[in-house]
Amino acid sequence: MKKIQMVDLKGQYEKIKDRVDQSVLDVIESSAFINGPEVHTFQKELETYLGVKHVIPCANGTDALQIAMMGLGLQPGDEVITADFTFAATVEVIALLQLTPVLVDVEEGSFNIDPEAIRKAITPKTKAIVPVHLFGQCANMDAILEIAQEHDLFVIEDNAQAIGATYTFANGNKKKAGAIGHVASTSFFPSKNLGCYGDGGAIFTNDDDLAHIIRGIVNHGMYERYHHDVVGVNSRLDSIQATILRAKLPHLDSYNAARQSAARKYNAAFEGNTKISTPYISKTCENSICENCDCHVFHQYTLRVKNVNRDALVKHLNDQGIPCGVYYPIPLHSQKAYKDARYNEADFPVTNQLVKEVISLPMHTELDDEQIDFITKTVLDFVNK
Ligand SMILES: *Cc1c(COP(=O)(O)O)cnc(C)c1O
Repeated sequence: MKKIQMVDLKGQYEKIKDRVDQSVLDVIESSAFINGPEVHTFQKELETYLGVKHVIPCANGTDALQIAMMGLGLQPGDEVITADFTFAATVEVIALLQLTPVLVDVEEGSFNIDPEAIRKAITPKTKAIVPVHLFGQCANMDAILEIAQEHDLFVIEDNAQAIGATYTFANGNKKKAGAIGHVASTSFFPSKNLGCYGDGGAIFTNDDDLAHIIRGIVNHGMYERYHHDVVGVNSRLDSIQATILRAKLPHLDSYNAARQSAARKYNAAFEGNTKISTPYISKTCENSICENCDCHVFHQYTLRVKNVNRDALVKHLNDQGIPCGVYYPIPLHSQKAYKDARYNEADFPVTNQLVKEVISLPMHTELDDEQIDFITKTVLDFVNK
């Protein structure tokens, strides 16, 4: 059996090696390292893929979030509501911009921000909601857009984990994750569903004016050379990363399909086990994963275990050569950097439970049946002991 990895970047690279190597050499040969034609072409190709008017590449997913918030003109003291159960980048940039993060609980099933909790957290200072499409599945965007409209709030999608996912609205309309809110961010960190070979990110929007503002912000606030109209940053996707992303974008749907196929096999093995909850899929797919649907693109395959010592399970898997992850072990509202006297433990029942029960199994495009069988057997041996 091939060694099991949490993410198999090497195996994926081997299959596109010729194209990637040649593209990288071509960029080096051209010496157009910064803002070269490959960056522009990638931007256009991603706009087409997502069905979004503007893609603005930048240096990483954290910058993308920060720049989106700067572009919207959010001011110190403005309140921004986001999920308590997510990666810290989201709340970090809110705090860095001296906005006030307001963390709220997530839904029991999808692990995504709970619209009811958003409603309860709204005050006259609330300016924006940041839903994070966690683990590859969109938050409840019907409800979030409705709340945003009612209260005149911006919606900033953190789409670092769900690129390629499709959201189906209650009326049957479909949109790609990241093409739904006022603005969205994504990350091309190597292990993300569309990853480059270093750092990278992008901002998406359908708003022409906002796109113009953001294009200046990523480039030192310049709209005309050496005229600095606003305070900006230096945040660029370089041409070598862009050409690698161009080589990978045509494979994104098949990469996501490979993740879904692995998820289906995991689900089948764990079905009926009373101590294991397999990932819940909202809406269109009920509790199974359809063959031709991208409602969940499995950035992570995350189980909840009950009446099982989760940390002992992690150790057992590691001892058997199976890497796994706990995303995330600590609620953001309990992190030293983001503690706030306004938070009340009783407002986070779901997150407080999830951090004790979640475990993410290896998930990538190169998992084979032998590996999946070994992983599922090893999990079940421990759980059923
Ligand atoms: C990875 C990630 C980010 C940050 O992306 P970087 O490119 O690492 O800066 C932000 N939000 C979420 C939810 C992520 O998973």
